[in-house]
This record gives sequence, C-alpha cells and structure tokens, in this order.
Amino acid sequence: MPVVVSMLNSYSGWAACGIGFTLSNNLLIITGALVGASGAILSYIMSKGMNRSIISVVLGGFGGEQAASASGDNSDKIVKQGNAEDAAYIMKNADSVIIVPGYGMAVAQAQHALREMGDILKKEGINVRYAIHPVAGRMPGHMNVLLAEANVPYEEVLELDEINHDFPMTEVSFVIGANDVTNPAAKTDESSPIYGMPILDVERSQTVLFVKRSMATGYSGVDNELFYRDNTTMLFGDAKKMCEDIVKSLA
Ligand code: NDP
Repeated sequence: MPVVVSMLNSYSGWAACGIGFTLSNNLLIITGALVGASGAILSYIMSKGMNRSIISVVLGGFGGEQAASASGDNSDKIVKQGNAEDAAYIMKNADSVIIVPGYGMAVAQAQHALREMGDILKKEGINVRYAIHPVAGRMPGHMNVLLAEANVPYEEVLELDEINHDFPMTEVSFVIGANDVTNPAAKTDESSPIYGMPILDVERSQTVLFVKRSMATGYSGVDNELFYRDNTTMLFGDAKKMCEDIVKSLA
C-alpha cells in the first residue's frame, strides 16, 4: 500500500509537470518533475527492498490467502520464553550486541528506552550496533528517523549490507518489534510471499532475543520459524515496557 501511495504521488508530480508545459510555467515544470522523480525513486527503493517488481506489488495480494497458507500449523512447536532479567543477564555477559528494530518499536515508541539500554550496555564495554533493514517499519527510513530522534549516534546505525556479515561473529541479536525482516523463509521457502527479500541474518548469531507481544505474524502474514529455534528466546511484552524493565535490571 505505501508503494502504491508513493507511485500515485509520483504521478501527481508528472501531471503537474505536464500542466506546466501547457501553461508555459517553468516553476510548475520544475516542482512537478521533482515530485514525480522523487516519488518514482522512492517506489523503486521500496520495491527493491522487498525484492518485488512494482507491477507485482500493485497486482499481488501481499499478506492475503497465500501468506496464510504459508504460515503452517506451529501449535505443537516449543518456544523458549524469557523475561527482562534474563535478557539483561545475557546481554551484560556478551561482547557484542546487534539491535534490530522493526515496526513494533515504532508502534511502542520504544526508541528512547532502547537507546538508554544501549548506552548502559556500551558503558559495560559491550560493542552495541543497530542493524537497519531497508523496509523495516512501514516506510523507507522509518527506523533511521526514530533512532535519530532518540539521539542514537549515526555511526552505530548500519544498513543491511554493512552489517549482515557480522552476525556470525555476534553473541546477541536483540530483535525489537521486527519480524518479516529476519524471517529465513525469505531465503528458503519459494512458496512464501516474502521469498527473495534480503533479510538480516540474525539467526547466525549465538543468541537471538525477540521482543514482541505474542506469536503473531508481521505485515506479510508469514510465520517466522526463528521463534522456535534453540538459540532463540522470546521476550513477550510491549517493546517500550520491555526495554524499560531491561534498563532497570541492568542498573
Ligand atoms: P513486521 O510487520 O514484520 O513485524 C512487526 C512485529 O512487531 C509484529 O510481529 C508484532 O508482533 C510486533 N509488534 C507490534 N506492536 C508491538 C509492540 N507494541 N511491542 C512489541 N512488538 C510489537 O515488521 P518488520 O519491521 O520486521 O517488517 C516490515 C514489513 O512491512 C515487511 O514485510 C515490509 O515488506 C513491509 N512494508 C514495509 C514498508 C517500508 O517502506 N518500510 C512499506 C510497505 C510494507 P506482536 O503483534 O506479536 O507484538
């Protein structure tokens, strides 16, 4: 839907540009072309981040019936659960932590509490970095904006291509409110609606902590088998409250 909105935005720019030619109005031509071009670039970036063509985004039923059938029945699988104290203990004893924010962090407005948590870990000598997937959240740059608002230093915020190869050398991946952008089905399950989307390889780190409220799926409607892996611990709760509790435990 955001891709379609961005495309329509682009069309409005090109329409204005065309009217500018009819009226011989240079200002309208220039501003229309700027709006049209930026909308087109944005649509392209978003589609590329999802590894889908613009046509398939417009015509495909992302998150529809196909996604539901891809979820499968996981009711008998076992999930390891933890709490804020467990998370604090695990991270305090690690050398490196990569934080992976997603849509849930934005919903919970957890970025300030998250930065506070990161600051405490850094004071303990732990290498803390943030990994940003190009389509994490619900618009391009969503996570970057929120982390910047919380004054997370730019040099600690790395894009997928810059950090993905570091996960195997990382002790803890702290996934907060992200789901689809970590789902290995994108690499392995050809029938999955997210197949082909590049993902953050959090499962390659020693321990994965997932902060979310339930076992619910993300935007694509596809279950994430990482939740059931041996090296995953689920931290069920609101992202902001969980970060605040971890901060208390660390302190
Ligand atoms: P997802 O939508 O995959 O997952 C978000 C997770 O956040 C959910 O599983 C939800 O689980 C959890 N959550 C929601 N609210 C809270 C809360 N208050 N506290 C804690 N957790 C919460 O998000 P991702 O960022 O991983 O992926 C983005 C998705 O959006 C991708 O599929 C992408 O293709 C799509 N998209 C992105 C666009 C963009 O430009 N960025 C544009 C269009 C689509 P639970 O309910 O259990 O808490």
